[in-house]
Amino acid sequence: MVPLIDLKIQHRSIAAEVEAAIKHVCENTAFILSDEMKSFEIEFAEYCGVKHGVGVANGTEALFLALKALGIGEGDEVIVPANTFIATAAAVSHAGATPVFVDCDPETYCIDPAKVSAAITPRTKAIMPVHLYGHPVDMDAILSIARANGLKIIEDCAQAHGTHYKGKQVGGMGDASGFSFYPSKTLGAYGDAGIVLTNSDELAEKLKLLRDNGRTTWYEHAIIGYNSRLDGIQAAILRIKLKHLDKWVEARRSHAKTYQELLAGIDGVVLPIEKPDARHSYYVYVVRVKDRESFMAALKEKGVGSGVHYPVPLHLQPAYAFLGGKEGDHPVAERYAKEIVSIPMFPELTEEQLVKVATVIKEVVAV
Ligand SMILES: *Cc1c(COP(=O)(O)O)cnc(C)c1O
Repeated sequence: MVPLIDLKIQHRSIAAEVEAAIKHVCENTAFILSDEMKSFEIEFAEYCGVKHGVGVANGTEALFLALKALGIGEGDEVIVPANTFIATAAAVSHAGATPVFVDCDPETYCIDPAKVSAAITPRTKAIMPVHLYGHPVDMDAILSIARANGLKIIEDCAQAHGTHYKGKQVGGMGDASGFSFYPSKTLGAYGDAGIVLTNSDELAEKLKLLRDNGRTTWYEHAIIGYNSRLDGIQAAILRIKLKHLDKWVEARRSHAKTYQELLAGIDGVVLPIEKPDARHSYYVYVVRVKDRESFMAALKEKGVGSGVHYPVPLHLQPAYAFLGGKEGDHPVAERYAKEIVSIPMFPELTEEQLVKVATVIKEVVAV
């Protein structure tokens, strides 16, 4: 069996280090706003080439707090892609603002900059591009639209650890960015965790207040904030894993290259692309097929795991029915939602497993 993802092999490779780090945190009872957290904030921000990192409870809250810190709320609109994980839009809704969905680029699956301008209204305050699957958004186009219309940019980097755009790690191109360290993410914690990155001193200070109940001193609270701090144990584990991140991203890229070699030109399977100015980090490896349900069932029968990221575009989710979205609003996202399949992708996949996946796919699409 080749699973879609296996986190256990990676854990085994770092188990001794992780267990020692957890023990160290326990012995020091340094759980909240700890030195481990502060060190991770510095190290991760540095890895991304951004000035400040503010550790928070998870990726959804990272995006939510970034919006709050930028003063976005009631009556405002934020442009988000129609095809993403629901947390992107939920963060906007939690802030009191309205997500406005935009269709995706047919090649990269990321938000289509050509369709962003038409979604701008007098209420639009920000764009939240998502570097989906690990491929970067065409940020130059997004930045120029944002500049021309006075909009903020919050990058959703939850799937983009190790993703580069024009030679640089993503996460520092807008006003702020949010990362998730959900366990299965390219850099995953052992529970929930997230971070906001920003180059703005002022925004970083606001974010630190917002995540810690608005606290300025132990008994003084300048604003009504939230409790959304990066856990000390998670930070200690993330510090260990960060040292391996580049190696793991390279392994993902190498697997993608192998898939490309083994599957190129096969009728009935569309492979992901990497734009010339991009370094894809392959958080997930998404292909398109015509009859997805039978394709997935056949893979399963032959011992190959698969998944769908994501089967329902957000404008068609029951949770967003109140916005009045309908079939036909975002045709590319809608068509792809029916055709996309994620096939096994994680750093520890072996050559033998990659060959097995490719062989099974060829058999399945040949019938
Ligand atoms: C995972 C994810 C999030 C949310 O992260 P959590 O840590 O699970 O809250 C947000 N946006 C995208 C695109 C994601 O994939």
